[in-house]
Amino acid sequence: MKKEVSIIGSGFASLAASCYLAKSGYKVTIYEKNDRIGGRARQLQKEGFTFDMGPSWYWMPDVFERFFADFDKKPSDYYKLEKLSPAYKVFFGNNESITIEDTLEKIYAAFEKEEHGSSIKLKKFIDQAQSNYKIAIEDLVYRPGVSPLELVTPETIKKIGQFFSNISKDVRKHFNNKKLIQILEFPVLFLGAKPSDTPSFYSFMNYADFGLGTWHPQGGMYKVIEGIEKLAVSLGVEIRTNSPVDKINVIDKSVTSISVNGKEIATNLVVAGADYHHSETLLEPEFRQYSESYWDKKTFAPSSLLFYVGFDKKLNNINHHNLFFDVDFEAHTRDIYDDPKWPEEPLFYANFTSVTDENTAPENCENGFFLIPLAPGLKDTAELREKYFSIILKRFERLTNQNVIKNIIFKESFCINDFIEDYNSYKGNAYGMANTLLQTAFLRPKLKSSKVDGLFFTGQLTVPGPGVPPSLISGKLVSGLIQSS
Ligand SMILES: Cc1cc2nc3c(=O)[nH]c(=O)nc-3n(C[C@H](O)[C@H](O)[C@H](O)COP(=O)(O)OP(=O)(O)OC[C@H]3O[C@@H](n4cnc5c(N)ncnc54)[C@H](O)[C@@H]3O)c2cc1C
Repeated sequence: MKKEVSIIGSGFASLAASCYLAKSGYKVTIYEKNDRIGGRARQLQKEGFTFDMGPSWYWMPDVFERFFADFDKKPSDYYKLEKLSPAYKVFFGNNESITIEDTLEKIYAAFEKEEHGSSIKLKKFIDQAQSNYKIAIEDLVYRPGVSPLELVTPETIKKIGQFFSNISKDVRKHFNNKKLIQILEFPVLFLGAKPSDTPSFYSFMNYADFGLGTWHPQGGMYKVIEGIEKLAVSLGVEIRTNSPVDKINVIDKSVTSISVNGKEIATNLVVAGADYHHSETLLEPEFRQYSESYWDKKTFAPSSLLFYVGFDKKLNNINHHNLFFDVDFEAHTRDIYDDPKWPEEPLFYANFTSVTDENTAPENCENGFFLIPLAPGLKDTAELREKYFSIILKRFERLTNQNVIKNIIFKESFCINDFIEDYNSYKGNAYGMANTLLQTAFLRPKLKSSKVDGLFFTGQLTVPGPGVPPSLISGKLVSGLIQSS
């Protein structure tokens, strides 16, 4: 008889795990609390507009290729990928912006224009970042975080110093221009910590950015979720939505069943792909591995205030991806990490996928996604959301030189309370636990429970960390552990 496995949640990590386990002969059932799959990568469709509710930067295309190749498939079997050209634009003030193009040569030229001699330094920096990327992808991120020895390879020993310095120091060693420094510090923000708390080795994210480029699946990131869903279903995975798991039941230190919507379902094998903290609260306290104070001491990635906005006209001076770094970068990061509070002057990010992908908005309209990173756990009210919408829209109008407020057909917001309500997210974090030195690899929450047989975890709070590519890898790692245990 086929071995059965129950998976909690349908985010990227759970979906990936379901595919690997189904392929290796398990009968897999996914239980998702929401009415749609995809977790933080869900989609919002409204009045002809389509929004990705969470991730929008498709980076590290090689990781997606490797995932599908494990099933003898290619991304193009499920969605059409396009390299964005330009990749993104960074606004620093009125009529002050830098556009990051789609090739290294063009990016070197943009740097040189800003700071004489910087292109040569950038080339060196990117060569180093590329070598780190190769080591990270080939040697490190596909390891399950079981032992510290996983980090010790002939290649990493040569780079040991880079684990004890940080990106912020490194970038400042080579570059003086403030704008270039901010551009080079931006990619590691995806890892959830301040650049000054992120080891230099993670400069591999700069190679992902400049070297590998920014891609867009036509129709949006949700096309990737739909592709993996299609693959999972073809492998025999059953997906049940509107199915919140409210308890993981244990007898004699082994999983015996889960309760779904109050109904008990027998199972000896569970993969929890919901936020780790929440998943452990589904257990009686004696079976939890990590205490409340453990979670409280961890550096979490930011939460976000998000707006999904429909405009009834095409907008000027915007790209697909836009970063608004026209205010004090360090002041905002302090408000996220050091002294958590709503920022005085927020940095923000906006994407308009309809600039390059006409399917995501009605004709002659634009869809706008606005994101302000925030400390998790802040008080979240309708008034605060409105206040910040007004602040960023005014700045957006000024920096892009146009009036847009009167052209808003609708807007929806999503913030800390929604992250908690919709995803059972710890303190409303948006993308999990940060990758600081002390929260890397074997120092992250474990994929396999040390207290309950048959219980495993996956997702952005485990190894290797936050982001869509790491979540896909996490699904692969947990299925590997299950098969070898
Ligand atoms: C605003 C935002 C922007 C981002 N931008 C990017 C980006 O541009 N590029 C990138 O690579 N990454 C980005 N990320 C990060 C990326 O989206 C995540 O790392 C990834 O989607 C996490 O996947 P996951 O499977 O770990 O978790 P999730 O997607 O959170 O999946 C967990 C699932 O478990 C479900 N669940 C919770 N509790 C229960 C329960 N009791 N019973 C049943 N189901 C339950 C939830 O509903 C959810 O569907 C972004 C994230 C956010 C929020």
